[in-house]
This record gives sequence, C-alpha cells and structure tokens, in this order.
Amino acid sequence: MSQPVRKNNLLVVGSIAFDDLEMPTGKFDDVLGGAATYSSIAASLLGPAQLVGVIGADFAEKHLDALRERGIDTTGVERLPGKTFRWRGRYSKDLSSRVSLDTQLNVFADFRPKIPAAYRTTPFVMLGNIHPSLQLEVLDQVERPKLVAADTMNFWISGEPAALAAMLKRIDLLIINDEEARELSGIQNIVKAAADIRKRGPSKVIVKRGEHGALLFDENGAFFVPAYPLEEVNDPTGAGDTFAGGLMGYVARHDGDASPHLLRRAMFFAAALASFCVEDIGPRRLLAVTRADLARRISAFHALVDFGGTLALGDGV
Ligand code: AMP
Repeated sequence: MSQPVRKNNLLVVGSIAFDDLEMPTGKFDDVLGGAATYSSIAASLLGPAQLVGVIGADFAEKHLDALRERGIDTTGVERLPGKTFRWRGRYSKDLSSRVSLDTQLNVFADFRPKIPAAYRTTPFVMLGNIHPSLQLEVLDQVERPKLVAADTMNFWISGEPAALAAMLKRIDLLIINDEEARELSGIQNIVKAAADIRKRGPSKVIVKRGEHGALLFDENGAFFVPAYPLEEVNDPTGAGDTFAGGLMGYVARHDGDASPHLLRRAMFFAAALASFCVEDIGPRRLLAVTRADLARRISAFHALVDFGGTLALGDGV
C-alpha cells in the first residue's frame, strides 16, 4: 500500500541491482545494490523515503522486506519478467579505484519510471544515475518539488549531451564526482568546473572526491566536508549514492528551502552515512545502522573538525 505523501517525503528514483563484487578480501556475488537502493536506505534513517525502480523475477522478497523494515515505501518498485540489473566490479588493492567488468541491464533496459499518484506532490526528489531523458520523465510527473537533486555519469555526459543539458536546466543540485565534473565542463580545475556547471542550470553543485571528502558550491561560495576517517574500509560501493541520499534525507527532514546553512549541515550527515556504508560489503552495515549509531558518529565528526575557536590571524586580521 502506498503511504500518503508527507511534507518530509523524499522520492528516490534509480537503479536497483545485484552486484558481484571482486574485493581484495574475496569475491561477493548477488549483493543487494543499485544507486537508488543505497540512497533510499541512507535517507530512510532521517525521514520517509519512497523508492521508484525496477526489479526482475529473481529479486527475492526478503530484499524488499529489508527495505520496508527501514521504513522505505516500495510501492513504486515495479517487478517485470526477466532478470534484475546486474553489475560486476573489481576494486584495486587499496580500494581507491575500480573497473566495471560487466553491466547487464536486463529489466533496467526497458525502465520507464512511473511515479505513484500519491507521490506526485512529493517535496523532495533524488534522481539517481539513469538516462537523463528518464530523469526528465520523472520531473514531468511531479508537481513543483521544493528541491530536486540529480546524479549522472560519464556514459551520459559523453553519449547524451543534449538530454543531459535539458535535465541540468530543471534541477537545483547536481551531485557528481570530480572526474565527471571535469568531463561535463571540459575544465580540469574543480572550482572552475563547478562554476561552469552552475551556469548550466543547477544553482548548487556538490563534487564528491571519495576518501578526500566533498565540496559544495552554491550562492554562498564553497564548503568542504572531509570523509570521516575509518580504521577499516571494506567496500566503497554505493558510498556516493549513500552520500546523496543522506544529504537529501537531511534536507527533507528539516523541510527546509535548502538554505546554505541547512545544506552545509546536511553535508556532515551525508558523509557520516557514507562512512557506515564503506565499513562492510554492500549495504549490510547501512541496513543495520541505528539512529543512536548515527548520533554517535555525528558527534565524533563534530569533534574531528571542531578546533574550538574562530580562525583569525589576530591584530584585527
Ligand atoms: P557508487 O559506488 O556510488 O558509484 O554506486 C555503485 C552502485 O551503482 C552499484 O550498486 C551498482 O549496482 C550501481 N550501478 C553501476 N553501474 C550502473 C549504471 N550504469 N547505471 C545505474 N546504476 C549503476
């Protein structure tokens, strides 16, 4: 049953997948994955989230149950005959890079997102990395959300520039990684690249840099949040999607107009949730995180960046 739309609802649209992961510690097959899966799990810790995506006949009900147990509304998850989207990736020894070994679109190839009628007035939207024309189709089905964020990838940047340009004009916030920002803008310097992207539509751009943190560029200038330093990192898959879902979940929770201050606070919650994501294989750790765990990590994060004063050289400088 679809739940009535709430003023804090976040609609998350994107891939739901099985991932086969080749990590330095071993191989892990049939791991629950997909960008929208990670984003919705992260958001669900902060408020109501609705997931829209497609799965095949092979997608076990237990995975949907795990998402529902987190409070995620899965009414918008469509089951089609055929197999679920599958992605295989291999990580380098230090986990700093990965190669995509195989991508089987399966039912995802014919995905046309259908937003349940009850969610057409959702105030917050997270468009995961899908064809930019489909991202636009989602926006055509919702009524003036307060904030729309989107992700994209190199494949669409090089392959669908016109659709991507049209999508950029209709979103408020683009969340991408540094390589994508460079490719999209054609500019090497990240600060200049973000300024260029902001001229193409989104008033805000977040550039993710993996273990080197994330930079926000908006009307108030630039803001940086580090990645939370961990002793053990096991699987970075989905960390970027977790960051995006956590960020939007925090903004939705506060039902804000995404003011510069709210977005800056949201960056810490996004990074804190991403730090849980990388601790275990797939979304296992993320699915088990409690609000108390999150509160503890946020307070440790605060301590990490709190130097106990204001920055000034003295002598009035
Ligand atoms: P991230 O590590 O944040 O880039 O996200 C990885 C997740 O994205 C994995 O769970 C994959 O299932 C999913 N994924 C990989 N390739 C694609 C693609 N071409 N389109 C949509 N999702 C994908």
